[in-house]
Parts: sequence; structure tokens; C-alpha cells
Amino acid sequence: MFKKILVANRGEIALRVQRACRELGIKAVMVYSEADREAKYVKLAEEAVCIGPAPSPQSYLNMPAIISAAEVTDAEAIHPGYGFLSENADFAERVEKSGFQFIGPTPESIRIMGDKVSAKQAMIKAGVPCVPGSEGELPDDPATIRRIAKSIGYPVIIKAAGGGGGRGMRVVHTEAALVNAVQMTKAEAGAAFGNPAVYMEKFLQNPRHIEIQVLADKHRNAVYLGERDCSMQRRHQKIIEEAPAPGIPRKLIEKIGDRCAAACKKIGYRGAGTFEFLYEDGEFYFIEMNTRVQVEHPVTELVTGIDIVKTQIQVAAGEKLPFTQRDIVLNGHAIECRVNAEDPYKFTPSPGRITTWHAPGGPGVRVDSHVYNNYFVPPNYDSMIGKIIVHGDTREQALARMRTALLETVVEGINTNIPLHRELMVDAKFCDGGTNIHYLEQWLSQHKR
Ligand code: ADP
Repeated sequence: MFKKILVANRGEIALRVQRACRELGIKAVMVYSEADREAKYVKLAEEAVCIGPAPSPQSYLNMPAIISAAEVTDAEAIHPGYGFLSENADFAERVEKSGFQFIGPTPESIRIMGDKVSAKQAMIKAGVPCVPGSEGELPDDPATIRRIAKSIGYPVIIKAAGGGGGRGMRVVHTEAALVNAVQMTKAEAGAAFGNPAVYMEKFLQNPRHIEIQVLADKHRNAVYLGERDCSMQRRHQKIIEEAPAPGIPRKLIEKIGDRCAAACKKIGYRGAGTFEFLYEDGEFYFIEMNTRVQVEHPVTELVTGIDIVKTQIQVAAGEKLPFTQRDIVLNGHAIECRVNAEDPYKFTPSPGRITTWHAPGGPGVRVDSHVYNNYFVPPNYDSMIGKIIVHGDTREQALARMRTALLETVVEGINTNIPLHRELMVDAKFCDGGTNIHYLEQWLSQHKR
């Protein structure tokens, strides 16, 4: 096992990885930008290295600064967290070439999955069902583009091969709008992701976002840890996640889960990963794979009892998965609310000093957050300041616990989306379970403030 790991991230996930390291008896080296000097995990750290000024390109995306920090502290491995460099194949490669273990899959796996066209092709080969669409990148020829759309059937969605974070997508309803939409998405994708390649998929009208968590080791063992329902999204950004997904027959989950685990073995995947699917009319359609730990991993941890971050570290160190598929049993229900520093209805960011932070507690309540009383939320990064996660024997109990937890939570000095979560946790349709990916936006348009 490693003696020392460098954590190349910030915010709640930096604290989460630090905690996993401590539990495993590993020293965690934290890196921070000038804006994060006061973060909880920096104050708690045995070792911390400033890697540059606040803007991410100069700190959390600064590969030489991060690798030098690992060198000067004698770390053996680097945990990339999520976001930033976590899905950057070049970074993973540089980490390994510099003699450190990258805690994640191989650079090749990251590269294949980072390009949505090659990811889909790999999944089709591995027997994972995908959204019907173009076989690969769209050509320039308008007649061919029209022919592909016609064979898929309208509406279609044009997606950037290098897209991410809900950007680089355009829905097209008619042939008249098609060619222009493809050209515009290409131009945007080139500017935003440095890769103008786009592909086409059938646009599913009312799907749910269901994802399968996997864990794999370097010895070709792979398991799936059940599913998460992440359909509560605004602008393709998740805000509430839960496990298991309400109302989906277990047989279907087992079938798709087995396919995902088998695909991991087939492609030589290692580490934690998530297969994201759209689910409509009893069918799963693969959309992409995330080759890292996800924000919403705690709901899976609560229903399986498995520590995903600890297991990531163990398998990166070469250990075998400490469990087999048969050992994985789901227990109860878990829900996560992402707490964002933003206006709850206008969604404008609300950085600044938190004058009061009172986190909830009690049975089945977990709070993953790096903030504290008098902490200053820097304006430079993502607005998420933490996550409230609850576990109950049933979905009803989990909902009741989340309502209580949200009622107890006090955040003063900045705005947060907690008032929105409080409303959603008593919304009749959400409480029934099984809302689709459009539900939250429809709800917001009907509850204009
Ligand atoms: P990103 O990498 O930017 O998150 P994804 O491919 O995961 O992109 O898609 C993000 C979201 O966009 C999905 O959760 C879903 O809401 C919507 N979406 C993507 N593809 C389709 C599709 N074929 N039909 C309908 N909605 C889609």
C-alpha cells in the first residue's frame, strides 16, 4: 500500500480523499491555490503545498506544478478527484511517466472514454446498448447528414465528441434546421473543446438519467454497485441524486449492471467508473462513461456499505477487489442534495463569507463539505459547497430524513439552493419517484419567483 498520496483537487472531494487516506493509514499531501489557503482540508493537512494563484489554469490545472508538488513531498500516487484534471489522459500519462501511480484508469481508457464517439464504439463492441445514432463522427456533406438524420428519425441531438459538463449539444426537430445546427455545434465544439467533431443521436423525449457505478482492479475483476437516479437536473447539471432508482425492475438493473461489469473486463478498465444511461420505456441507452469518482458517489456508498474512494486507492495500489458481485447487496435508500452557493431561483453564483454554518445531523445523515463558520467561498470555482446525504430503510424514510436535515441546516452570509431543495423534497411528483430529466426545469418554469 502507498505511504503517501497527493490529492490534486479542492473542495469537498479533497476532504473526502483526505479522510479515506487517513482511514487507510496513508499520509495525504494537499495542494491548494492562493484562494484556498483557508480551506478545512488544508488546515487539517499534515502537508500542504501551494501550487499557484486562484485561476484554475495556474493552479488546479497546472500539471507541472502538481507533479513538482508530488516530487518535493515524495508522494507515490496522485488522486485526481473529479473535474479539473481527473479525466485528462495527458495528465494521467505525465503522472505515470514521472514515476507516480495515477489513481484511476489507464491513460488509454481515459482517452477512449473522453471522446464520446470512440466511447460509443467501444461500448457497442462490448455489448452495451447505446442511443441509436450516427456510426461515428458526422461528415461535412449536407446530403449525407440529412440521410443519417432521416434514418434515425427526428428529433435528433447533435453532440460534440469532446463535450462535457452539459455543453456542446443541440436538439434539432426539423430537416430545415439540421445542417445549420450541425455547423454551429461544430464551430462551438472547436472553440470550446479544441475538437470540432460532432455526432448525431436520436433525441429521447422523456428519459430518466440512470447510471451504473463500477469498480475494477488490475486483475480483470470488475463489479457493479447498483445504480443511481440522477434525473433531477437543471441545464444538464445534476442537483439531486438517489439510489436505488425508484420503480425500475431489479432484473433490468442486474442485466445492464452485468453488461457494464463485463465491458470493464473486456476493455481492461481499472478503478472506479460510471456508465451513464438514458432510460426510457424499459430500455437503457448508454450516453457516456465517467472515468473517475463522481460527486454523487456517497448515495451508492450508503446503500452498499462500500467505501468507493478507499477501494479506488486499494486497487490503484495493485490489490484485488475485496469483494465479488455476490457480496454486493443493496440496503435501504439514499438521497443526496448538492448544496450550491447560488441564488436558489435565479441561480446566480453567491460567493463570499459564510457567517454561520450549521450542518444537520442525526441517524442516517452524512454531510460532505469543506466549509465552516467564517469560511470564505472563493468566486473562482464551482459553486458547490457541500452535499447533504441521507440513508433510510425505505425511500419514504430517506425523504423524511432529508426534510429534517434541510430544516436543520443553517447557512448565513451567502445564498444557497437549500430553499429549493426544501420545496422539492415535498413536491408530490418527486416524492412519487421516477421523474424524468425535464421535470426540474418544468417545475422551475411553473414556480417562477
Ligand atoms: P455531458 O458529458 O456534457 O454531461 P452527456 O452525454 O452525459 O453530456 O449528456 C448530458 C445530458 O444531456 C443527459 O443527462 C441528458 O439530460 C441530455 N442528453 C444527452 N443525450 C441525449 C439524448 N440522446 N436524448 C435526450 N437527452 C439527451
